[in-house]
Amino acid sequence: MDAHVTYADLSELQDEFIELETADERIQFLIELGQTLPAFPDKFCTEEFRVVGCQSMVWIVPKWDGEQFHFQASSDAPMVRGLVALLLSIYSGKEPAVISAFPIESLLEKLHLKSFLSPLRSNGLHSMIRQIRQYAESKQSASDPHFSPKRDLQLDRAQDLGPLHLRIESIRADFPILKVQNESGVPIAYLDNAASSQRPQSVIDSISDVFSGHYANVHRSGHEWAVATTEKLEASREAVRRFIHASKCEEIIFTAGATASINLIAFAWGDANLKSGDEILISEMEHHSNIVPWQQLCQRRGCTIRWVPVRADYTLDFERFESMLSNKTKLVAITAVSNVLGTINPVRQMAAAAHAYGATVVVDAAQATPHGSIDVREWDADFVVFSGHKMLASSGVGVCYGKRSLLESMPPWQGGGSMIKSVTFDGFSAAGLPHKFEAGTPPIAEIISMKPAIEYLEAIGHDRLMEHERLLVGRAIAGLAKLDRVQMYSPALDNKCGVISFSVEGIHGEEIARVLDSRGIAIRVGHHCAMPLHSRLGVSVTCRASFYLYNTTDEVSRFVESVGNAIRLLSR
Ligand code: PMP
Repeated sequence: MDAHVTYADLSELQDEFIELETADERIQFLIELGQTLPAFPDKFCTEEFRVVGCQSMVWIVPKWDGEQFHFQASSDAPMVRGLVALLLSIYSGKEPAVISAFPIESLLEKLHLKSFLSPLRSNGLHSMIRQIRQYAESKQSASDPHFSPKRDLQLDRAQDLGPLHLRIESIRADFPILKVQNESGVPIAYLDNAASSQRPQSVIDSISDVFSGHYANVHRSGHEWAVATTEKLEASREAVRRFIHASKCEEIIFTAGATASINLIAFAWGDANLKSGDEILISEMEHHSNIVPWQQLCQRRGCTIRWVPVRADYTLDFERFESMLSNKTKLVAITAVSNVLGTINPVRQMAAAAHAYGATVVVDAAQATPHGSIDVREWDADFVVFSGHKMLASSGVGVCYGKRSLLESMPPWQGGGSMIKSVTFDGFSAAGLPHKFEAGTPPIAEIISMKPAIEYLEAIGHDRLMEHERLLVGRAIAGLAKLDRVQMYSPALDNKCGVISFSVEGIHGEEIARVLDSRGIAIRVGHHCAMPLHSRLGVSVTCRASFYLYNTTDEVSRFVESVGNAIRLLSR
């Protein structure tokens, strides 16, 4: 490859790139292209020139000669250097108006980069383009007072990825575990995502980086590794804040998971605020994590639980909920999304109705955050809890969001290191938020893994993710509906995420799941920690297939076909 690729060479480069057939060839090409970049001086590897939004380090240095921009750029990742070289061949040595007008999206399309790049890489590439365009636009706006640059490339980016199923192979390539096959050499179709998701390479790397790069305890020592680890942990808190649209990082408490978060609320807030005669409203579709801590609270404080029913269409009975609210209602604890039915509950309306009676609202978002960003302020929830392991991050970490005023008014729950301001022979005073509720050494690497997980989900975006899940679950429902004796427990498609629970008359769910397992299809069977709901549905167990961003339509077909085969096999 020539040492310097220029704009004039672009069509040649384009022709060569289009010819490439496999992902490996494209990667190799980009790596070689990256090697053609001139040496990049170390003095420019600074925050000032770093492109924010790239997973790897990328620096772009603009030089303005009075008419044209000349860019110097580099990256610490060989393949990304190839993308940098491509951008320089397009933009370097150009006037601002040419830079702004260049039809970059259609070029990326022609080069098949839109389907080849993973969402994170694609996001990084667009961050570079945005930075270059902003340099050009700032020059244009300085010379033309009427110039109105289209700064917000967010929309381009969203349209850029297209539906997930069209780029599913590049998504799957981000998840090393999906290459694993079962003993018979069949690739595993992992359809147990509502129990726990798999992790992309960026999350795996973030964990190993902690232990091989700079591990130390956090919020304690002042040495280099301790500072680096603390900064990464706090960067995760900021990522969570952004992801759930909280106002302040102080409102983000890291816990061991959704269950731990609900227990924190039940002990720290519940014990201080509830008493005999008070009522707690929860729905029949709650997970045990959002039932048992309240039952325990009732045992301690003498308050009562009232159950909001589930309707025959598998949605929550909102009218009934409204009629159950009274001045006795002190707490409403509701799941945003059911882990069995997939039903999406009207959390915002429920919070508004509950607040009209002065009740505090806890939202269990364990099954909501895996599908992308949530907005705790729009919900106006007082507390929101979720777990990392269902949303691409590590297990062992979760979040308890609480409105600042509430968290400040609550006594600390667990005592120990980190949660104190001072300790004397006579007692202690508590630290400020969020540390007051984070006693002891936290799950450090696990918390740090939240940031790349969130970035991955953000790169895909909530709407695209839901669209994909509905495509998959819709096909699964249509397929299962054709099978004899299958009973599904599902609301309408537009009110649910990618989960389908079902039972087969006369055949135990365990037997169905065993046949599927032998064919490399992983589903869950049981009560899914929702025994009251199952008793309401009139079954002791259900089979549950839960789809996620890396599942394919082929996997859905395999699943439906295998359920059909299992029924035939087990009916003999
Ligand atoms: N709530 C819901 C709706 C869930 O699906 C789960 C996990 N199955 C939990 C709470 C509890 O989450 P964890 O086990 O991670 O604490």
